[in-house]
Amino acid sequence: MRTIRRGDALAELLYQEGIRDQRVLNAIAATPRETFLPDTLKHKAYQNTALPIGQGQTISQPYIVAKMTELLLGAGNAPKTVLEIGTGSGYQTAILAQLFDQVFSVERIKSLQFQAKRRMNRLDLHNIAMKHGDGWKGWPSKGPYDAIIVTAAASSLPEDLCAQLKDGGRLIIPVGNEQQSLLCVDHEDGELKTQTVESVRFVPLVAGELQ
Ligand code: SAH
Repeated sequence: MRTIRRGDALAELLYQEGIRDQRVLNAIAATPRETFLPDTLKHKAYQNTALPIGQGQTISQPYIVAKMTELLLGAGNAPKTVLEIGTGSGYQTAILAQLFDQVFSVERIKSLQFQAKRRMNRLDLHNIAMKHGDGWKGWPSKGPYDAIIVTAAASSLPEDLCAQLKDGGRLIIPVGNEQQSLLCVDHEDGELKTQTVESVRFVPLVAGELQ
């Protein structure tokens, strides 16, 4: 008997929303989003909405996870390494782990990082390195990276992250305060080329003390 995964319906919905990269749709279909949610919200796992995960943070909307991942895969020739800032629940991290050789993920709230780590083990995803730290600074010792994704809104483009992009690499980041835009920044021949993708709404990329 064919097993029907609940993620299949979500992937179908995202296709209707304009996501066309089959690799991304397959990863969405294969990833149990309820694993990343508190018990009280698991029944909403396959809705196309952001949801609270505690500590004032949210799991991103599946559409935006898929959109950002699709853009990242367009970086240069077959991007292999990706740096993620804002692990949160780990849902985006799990999607990236299925599409990149190696994922590096930085989170400033220790308890969220701890839970995310346990989820990765439960899902048998082992190509992920996690760090408790301030994502504004990136993770320079492991870089430069083919792709960088930031899942919290920065007030301006973080210079350290741009410096950790390989030539041919791509950074996807929401920038702004009240009004936020998703930016796609390409590093081409020593220059940064920025395009605006669409309006978005993310929790802020916090500067300063770790929790
Ligand atoms: N992709 C995640 C989104 C989580 S929300 C998911 O789908 O679950 C954004 C995350 O960014 C939060 O967990 C927040 O704690 C983290 N964050 C905010 N500022 C940060 C910083 N300066 N460094 C690292 N992580 C940060």
